[in-house]
Amino acid sequence: MTEKRQFRAIKGTRDILPPDSALWNWFEQTAREVFESYGFRDIRLPIFEETSLFARSIGADTDVVAKEMYTFEDREQFRVAHPLTMVDVIRIDEAVAEAWQHGRIPRTLANETEVLRLHEASQNIDREGTPALLCFLDSVRNLALGDSLTLRPEATASVARAYIEHGMHTQPGNVKLYYSGPMFRRERPQKGRYRQFYQVGAEALGQSDAPGIDAEVLEMLLVFFKRVGLTQTTLYVNSIGCKECRPKYVELLREELRKVKDRLGPDSQRRIDTNPLRVLDSKLPDEQPIIEKLPRISNHLCADCGEHFAKLKDELHLRGIVYEENWRLVRGLDYYTRTTFEVTAAGLGSQNAVCGGGRYDGLVELLGGPPTKGIGFAIGTDRAILSIQEGGKLPQLPGLAVFVAWMGAKSYPAAVAIARKLRECGLAVELPPEEMKFKKSLGLADKLGARYALIIGEDDVASGTFTLKRLADAEQKKLSENDLLEYLESERRGSGA
Ligand code: AMP
Repeated sequence: MTEKRQFRAIKGTRDILPPDSALWNWFEQTAREVFESYGFRDIRLPIFEETSLFARSIGADTDVVAKEMYTFEDREQFRVAHPLTMVDVIRIDEAVAEAWQHGRIPRTLANETEVLRLHEASQNIDREGTPALLCFLDSVRNLALGDSLTLRPEATASVARAYIEHGMHTQPGNVKLYYSGPMFRRERPQKGRYRQFYQVGAEALGQSDAPGIDAEVLEMLLVFFKRVGLTQTTLYVNSIGCKECRPKYVELLREELRKVKDRLGPDSQRRIDTNPLRVLDSKLPDEQPIIEKLPRISNHLCADCGEHFAKLKDELHLRGIVYEENWRLVRGLDYYTRTTFEVTAAGLGSQNAVCGGGRYDGLVELLGGPPTKGIGFAIGTDRAILSIQEGGKLPQLPGLAVFVAWMGAKSYPAAVAIARKLRECGLAVELPPEEMKFKKSLGLADKLGARYALIIGEDDVASGTFTLKRLADAEQKKLSENDLLEYLESERRGSGA
């Protein structure tokens, strides 16, 4: 007997159901409109990439890479015919040797052993028979041909990879791209923190690192937040220097942290060696007074970085952008240089960052591309929407316009025809597939949140008219088909549906 069981969404993932999904679509659509008004264009990226792309760009000792990635080996095996002839064995043996030589089989120690064992077994089949054949088959099966793949934990690395792969550096001006979609990190789920979460992000890549680009990206971000009603936000900015000045500051920080090591918690103690900047991220109350006394990067920037940061602040003033400087904003990922920023929003508790971003001038080069400057951000869609919902200022989204309440078999063809015409006009229409009693029909229209009920009885069909009832105030009018279409069309334009 098959066991009856209910399936549930995996921990840390969730379904976005209507009516919330309409809010999500509106949020993403507004992002598209705002970003496109700044010259950004959509890029659709794969959900999974080679693991080493993320390991290399995000940094091996970040939490994301060390603990949170969903990594798997791609399944791929040599096809083995059944029954297997000696010709097949020779063919596979040669194909494996060739693939190994040209690096198409991942060069792991385990694969190397299997390649040797497989070849040896193939040579012995003639002499030893079945045991050698079984050994051969075993090795074929054990060869791990697939690459190590990872569900993307963020999208900047993929954008940089695509930029290089498609030679986008030859395009005129800055390459400005935006994306939207799910990301995956194995974090401890809580309010505003999921294992599959969504980001809307934008990246500007090119030859210039002018602070005006940074400021324009921030302006675009804040214009978007204003458009979606995310108003109680705070923008924090910082500069974390470049590959000239940052290492010196990190060394100084490490020295100072060693002096106070005994007063720090175990995580911070470990980070003194692995990644001292991350100590500045600490939220532990006992560590705060100690951290406050540590040297600040703003006093250790090289002349170029200092000037870049000062100009960025001028540019922000020019655009009327209000911000706070936060010297502790170092961000979790390795690839950032100079400008870093974060936006927090109200109503989210401890997970209150709705956007993070910054400059990553060395990333494209690190991934084997030409020297390229880059800046971008990622907005956490889940959290941004949560904050909009908590704020209570939700947009009026169109929803169901018309419920067609038809009665009597003779009115059904007219109901089908008018429903199609209204839908062609862009209206959302519900047409019951079976006849319903009048009262029940209007009750359902109400429950579904329809703005109008279009009542069609057999008399109406005979006289060629329709009765339109506005459900909010029960106002009712009799209209010809043309008048009805005209009236609802103007209503649609008015409601933005
Ligand atoms: P990051 O890519 O870490 O800079 O994150 C950018 C933004 O994505 C954050 O400010 C959050 O709003 C959002 N975010 C990051 N991780 C998660 C998560 N696990 N669940 C929900 N949102 C997240």
